[in-house]
Amino acid sequence: MRRAIALAEAGERADGAAPIGAVLVSDGTVIGEGHNRVGELCDPSAHAEIVAMRAAGQRTRQPRFAGATLYSTLQPCGMCTMASIWAGVRRIVYGAERNQVHQMYFEDRHFETMDFIRDAFRDDMQVTGGVLAADCAALYYGPGDDPPREAQANLPPDRSGGPTE
Ligand SMILES: [Zn+2]
Repeated sequence: MRRAIALAEAGERADGAAPIGAVLVSDGTVIGEGHNRVGELCDPSAHAEIVAMRAAGQRTRQPRFAGATLYSTLQPCGMCTMASIWAGVRRIVYGAERNQVHQMYFEDRHFETMDFIRDAFRDDMQVTGGVLAADCAALYYGPGDDPPREAQANLPPDRSGGPTE
């Protein structure tokens, strides 16, 4: 998780990306890692977790990472959770819980990582949240913060505190 935090911080420094980092570990070896590159790549799917999985695919030349553990500084979104299921990831470990950060970091209102896991054809999958939670949450705007409006592009105006027209 410390490595994921470092990736998140480096990504933010490099291109101002929302500081999210992810590391994929298999049998004690890092097989992929990355940070949020959505803005840099103009790719809405380039979340840190997806970037890490793509790197792992390139490295292992496999599309599945059975038994691997995915570490992320922030509770994974639905897309990244589902990608983890598709990839055969065995365990997801994340730092900050969604209720510890501003809603700008999520596109959905209520999604919980476990909702997808429970419904997957996977009885072996584990999720552990809140690892180094305070350190991870410190990377983000908190629920009561007032981030710059341009950082809240995902939210409709009436939910981001700005003009409603
Ligand atoms: Zn995601």
